[in-house]
Order: sequence, then structure tokens, then C-alpha cells
Amino acid sequence: MLEVKDLRVNYGAIQAVQGVDFTVNDGEIVALIGANGAGKSTILKTISGLLRPKSGTITYEGTRLDKLSAAKIVAAGIAQVPEGRHVFAGLTVMENLKMGAYSAPKTQAAQLTAVFEQFPVLQERRHQDAATLSGGEQQMLAMGRALMAKPKLMLLDEPSMGLAPLFINKIFAIIKAINATGTTVLLIEQNATQALQIADRGYVVANGKVRLSGTGAELLANPAVQSAYLGG
Ligand code: ATP
Repeated sequence: MLEVKDLRVNYGAIQAVQGVDFTVNDGEIVALIGANGAGKSTILKTISGLLRPKSGTITYEGTRLDKLSAAKIVAAGIAQVPEGRHVFAGLTVMENLKMGAYSAPKTQAAQLTAVFEQFPVLQERRHQDAATLSGGEQQMLAMGRALMAKPKLMLLDEPSMGLAPLFINKIFAIIKAINATGTTVLLIEQNATQALQIADRGYVVANGKVRLSGTGAELLANPAVQSAYLGG
């Protein structure tokens, strides 16, 4: 479904991504794990068209994404849930969700029903200002907003960041549930244990390169991964 080949991305003189290759197959959950500053967010932002690569290719269902605008990439079926959530404060929960459907107005009503089934709390709070939600609820809103575009591939940037443990478990369970309804997921996380527990496959990113890859279970059992990323 998604193929990233020899991707290189710079910020001026800083080579943040230095020749990364990976794939995401239809229906999978794939996790990119690695320390702060490894290049994970840069990879995700380049896939969603917020950054342009210096070289390399990103191909999604046969189409080169690395030349498309961010809006065209959303229209192609890819939605990103940004790090830090970025819900629109001053707008209600409902208004935030509708913003997510701008590229898919025809399916808005059906998607709203699906989002409320997945996140009952958003239905309860639909008239509330998004800024008044807790961090975990804002994460749910950001995910719900992305789902409003009816994506085939969802990109999640650090969904568990800054959340209480109870909410972290909930968010990972929801990611699994979203995947079970047919949405492919590419997830980046510093919470490597839980990310690999739900992932079909994972890639370890360090200093702008992929250092290791395998199934979620293989990476969880790998001593090098355990000592560097799983606190073991
Ligand atoms: P984090 O979890 O902190 O987001 P990450 O693995 O996602 O880490 P990136 O944010 O992709 O890492 O950063 C990769 C490298 O690029 C780091 O060295 C970082 O300092 C640098 N970098 C990121 N954003 C910028 C920017 N806007 N300008 C300059 N350098 C940047």
C-alpha cells in the first residue's frame, strides 16, 4: 500500500532522514519506534506532504506522493493525526469533527455516526469547546477528526504522548479497533512497548536511519531493542 524508498529529508544543513526504506501493507498496523530526535516525525510529515524530501520516493497505491500537495494526499485517502493533537480551540467538538470532513463531504453523516460509535464521549461532549476536553479526550477528538475524512491509511504521531496511563491503554485499544474496521495504521511512538504490542510489524529508527525491523513480537523479544527502547 505504502512504499518509502531511500527517503532523505533535510532541515537546512541538518540531515534528519538519511535514506530510509520501509513498507506498509494493506490492513496492517506498522510502528516506527526510536528515541527523541531519531527522525520519526520528519518521516511522517514528509508522507503527509507537510515537508518535501531531498530525494527518494514515497509511493501509495501506485501514486507518487512526494510530488503531491498535502490536500491531494488527504484526498487520496491518507489522514494524519499530528503530534500534540492540535484540536481547534474555540470550536466545539462537532465543529472540529466537521473540519475533518472537508475532503469527503458526501460521507460526512455516515462517518460522524461511525466516529461517535468509536468515541461515545465525543458525542456526549459534541457542543463543548474542544479546549475544555482533557488531554486524552483531545487525542480522541484528533483521531475522530482524522477519521471523518474516511482514510484508508491513518498516520499517528505520538498518540500516547503526555497522557495518563489509563488513557494510554484506551488510546492503544482504540487504534486496534480502528484498524479492525479496515483502516491501515502507521504509528510513531516513544512508548515502544505498547506500540509493538499492537503492531503487526515495526521499524527501529535511529539517527535518521532504519536500524532494525521485524514483527512486533520479534522486536519486543529482541535484546538490543529491549535494552535501548523498552527499559529492559
Ligand atoms: P520527536 O519524538 O522528538 O519528535 P523524532 O524521532 O520524531 O523525535 P524528528 O522530530 O523527526 O525526530 O527530528 C529529527 C531531527 O531533525 C532532529 O535532530 C531534530 O532536532 C531535527 N529537526 C526536527 N524539526 C526540525 C526543524 N523544524 N528545524 C530544524 N531541525 C529540525
